[in-house]
Amino acid sequence: MPRVVIVGGGFGGLYAARAFRGAPVQVTVVDRRNHHLFQPLLYQVAMAALSPGDIASPIRWILRRQKNVEVLLADATGVDLERRRLLLSDGELSYDYLILATGTTHAYFGHDEWQPLAPGLKTLEDALEIRRRVLVAFERAERQPEAATRDALLTFVVIGGGPTGVEMAGALAEISRQSLTRDFRHIDPGAARIILLEGGPSILSAFPEPLRAAALHDLQKLGVDVRTNAAVSAITADGVSIGSDSIRSETVLWAAGVAASPLGRSLGVPVDRAGRVRVQPDLTIPGHPNVYVIGDLASLDGENGRPLPGVAQVAIQMGQHAVRNVLRAVEGQPLRPFVYRDLGNMATIGRASAVADFGTFRLTGYFAWLAWLFVHILNLIGFRNRLLVMVQWAWAYMTYQRAVRLITTKPPAEAGAPR
Ligand SMILES: Cc1cc2nc3c(=O)[nH]c(=O)nc-3n(C[C@H](O)[C@H](O)[C@H](O)COP(=O)(O)OP(=O)(O)OC[C@H]3O[C@@H](n4cnc5c(N)ncnc54)[C@H](O)[C@@H]3O)c2cc1C
Repeated sequence: MPRVVIVGGGFGGLYAARAFRGAPVQVTVVDRRNHHLFQPLLYQVAMAALSPGDIASPIRWILRRQKNVEVLLADATGVDLERRRLLLSDGELSYDYLILATGTTHAYFGHDEWQPLAPGLKTLEDALEIRRRVLVAFERAERQPEAATRDALLTFVVIGGGPTGVEMAGALAEISRQSLTRDFRHIDPGAARIILLEGGPSILSAFPEPLRAAALHDLQKLGVDVRTNAAVSAITADGVSIGSDSIRSETVLWAAGVAASPLGRSLGVPVDRAGRVRVQPDLTIPGHPNVYVIGDLASLDGENGRPLPGVAQVAIQMGQHAVRNVLRAVEGQPLRPFVYRDLGNMATIGRASAVADFGTFRLTGYFAWLAWLFVHILNLIGFRNRLLVMVQWAWAYMTYQRAVRLITTKPPAEAGAPR
C-alpha cells in the first residue's frame, strides 16, 4: 500500500489526514506538537476569555477512529527529495507521497532582536505569555507609585492592523474598560491606553473600504488609539519608536508579519519573499509530482491573479484537494488544478462587534459578530463539549465577565521582569 507522510497537524494537514479516511493508503501524520490548534480563537486564550484546552485537541485523539492513520510526535528538519525521505531531528521516514503543511511563524522584518520584547501570537505558549504580560502589567501598575512608570505599565501597544492585531486591541480595550474596572484600588484600569499601530494607510487592508471604516469606528468607540502610516522603527525595553516619535510602554505585542516555516526553503525550489513555496496549480512542487505543499506554506495565485490569503479555508481546501490528487495518482490518472472557493472573510472587534465580507453581501456590528460566532462554533472540529464551551464563552462575553478568571501562573519574580 502506498505510504503518505503528512507533515503538520494544523488545518491543512489535519483535513488532509481526514480526507484519506477509508482510502487504500497508509498515512503517517508528523507534528512537533501533539495537538491541533484552532488558531482563529487563539487571541481569546491570550485575552483570558478561553482556556488552552478549549481550542486545542490531541491530533491522535481526533484521528483515533481512522485505522489507516498513525500520528508521530517529531520535528521535521528537511526533505531528501531524491531518496524520498523526510528528515527528522532524530531519524527519517520514507514516503511515496509527501504533503508538507508546516505553516508559518512570526517575522520581525530583519529585527529578530524585537522578538523577546514584542511577542507574537501563533502557539498556545505565545498566548499564555501574552496573557501573563498583560495581567502582570496591571498588577505592577497597582503598586507603582511613580506616575510615568505607572502610565507605561498601563500603555499597551499592538503592532499590526490585520485581523489578529485588531482582535487583540479590541479585546485589550474590553478587558481594561469592562472586565477589570472594579478589581483595583489604586489604578483605574479603564484609563489604560491601547494603541494599535499599522504601517500601511489602513487597518484590515484585505477588507473592502466600508468594512475597514466600520472596524475603525468600532475600535475607536472602544477607546483604542488607532494610528495608521505608523511604521515602527525601533522596539526597546522602554517602548516603541515610530520615526522621531516614541511611545513609552511596558507591553508591546506583535501582529505584523509572518514568515513561512523553514522547511519550505529547504526543498530548494522557488519560494516567494516570505519563504512560501511556489507550488504548481496541482499543488505539487516542480519536478516532484509526489510532493505537495499546502496551506500557509504554499504560494499560489487565485483566479483574480493575487496570491491566495493565509487563512484556514485555503489550507483546508488545499489539504482536501491534495488528497484527491494523491488518490488520482495512485490510480494512474492525471492530477487536477486547485480552485479555491472563497467562503468569506471575518474579523471581530471586541465584544459583540465584527466585520464580515461574504463577497455578495457584507455585515458589520452585532450581526457580523453573530455570524462570526456561528462560523467559529461550526468549525471547532472534534472538540469536547464544543457547543457548551462556546455558549459559556458567549455568555461571559455578553455579561462582561471573562470566562477564565484573570490568573497568571508565574509570579513576576519567577518569570523575570515582564519584559
Ligand atoms: C492568531 C491567529 C488568528 C488567526 N485567525 C484566523 C481567522 O480568524 N480565520 C482564518 O481563516 N484564519 C485565521 N488565521 C490563519 C490560519 O490559522 C492559518 O491560515 C492556518 O492555520 C494555516 O493552516 P496550515 O495547516 O497551513 O498551518 P498551521 O495551522 O499553522 O499548522 C502547522 C502545523 O505544522 C506543525 N509544524 C510546524 N513546523 C513543523 C516541523 N518542522 N515539524 C513538525 N511539525 C511542524 C505545527 O506544530 C502546526 O501544527 C489565524 C492565524 C493566527 C496565528
